Amino acid sequence: MVRFTVLASGSKGNSTIVSGGRTRILVDCGLSCRELFRRMTLAGEEPESLNAVIVTHEHSDHVNGISVTARKLGIPVYFTEGTHRAWMRWLSPRRQMTYAQWMEQCRQQAAAREAEADLAAEEGEPDEPQPELLQPAQEPEVSLDPEAAADPSSGKPPSRKEDPSWLPALEYFQAGQPFQIGDIAVSPFTIPHDAADPVGFVFQAEGVRMAFATDLGYIPPNVKAQLQGLDLLLLESNHDLEMLRDGPYPWPVKQRVLSRVGHLSNEAAAQFLEQDYDGQAAYVILAHLSESNNLPELARLAAQRALEGRPSLLANKLLLADQHQPLSSIYF
Ligand SMILES: [Zn+2]
Ligand SMILES: [Zn+2]
Repeated sequence: MVRFTVLASGSKGNSTIVSGGRTRILVDCGLSCRELFRRMTLAGEEPESLNAVIVTHEHSDHVNGISVTARKLGIPVYFTEGTHRAWMRWLSPRRQMTYAQWMEQCRQQAAAREAEADLAAEEGEPDEPQPELLQPAQEPEVSLDPEAAADPSSGKPPSRKEDPSWLPALEYFQAGQPFQIGDIAVSPFTIPHDAADPVGFVFQAEGVRMAFATDLGYIPPNVKAQLQGLDLLLLESNHDLEMLRDGPYPWPVKQRVLSRVGHLSNEAAAQFLEQDYDGQAAYVILAHLSESNNLPELARLAAQRALEGRPSLLANKLLLADQHQPLSSIYF
């Protein structure tokens, strides 16, 4: 059975569960672990049944509860390498590291990359270089603070308890390279947003295709191509343009939201539905609605008008994801 449960959606936290076969994936973990488990229980989902967490990008409304949740459940977290690095920097922006520690970390990372490349060669994978993997490790904020260097304990890497970025297991994926988590096929695609390496997803299980596209400034051709032939489409409908322009945000923030790497407006979502969407999904879920610059009725109206403009799409069931309570599970 395939099931899709939105637990929270919006700038105060995002989390959704995609279930198919024997696999349950948590998409983003923007709620605290406690709140996540509370909502799962409300929605009839069992926290212990989760198999993995997958992350769209490193903004706090998508990653807040990741470490605690992954540790508590002992499950792996899937990131792109760019998002993982950005998340680590976000967690420990002032992490102090001696130069010797940094060199040792680089040596270990290089050895791991070499081992990975050897393994790939042994498995007969094509020889094409994987640019992401061959790039030198990004330099952390190295401190040559003499006090840190003099501290005898500073020679050791941080222990599991001290290190907020420690995870029971870490898996990397790359946009444009589909992969499998248990019984669910995952196709990550690049989205335009002001994060290190943000992605949307198409999940497929038991022949059901579900797409996940929030936190994007506009819908470029590569995303349009992914959002076809779906059974479920979860699409951002972040703000009403007029409300945003007249609303409380300071001008630089308004500019950020409106930019090509900001968030999708009701109008832009409706335009996609009207002009580019193939109308095949049984469910269209409007998501990541702003509480300051949008009203659920405005988002719904814009999308409804777009769908009504095309009589063949009237069968699409329109739902609104909520910030404060889970949406009833959708079953296929
Ligand atoms: Zn967000
Ligand atoms: Zn974001």
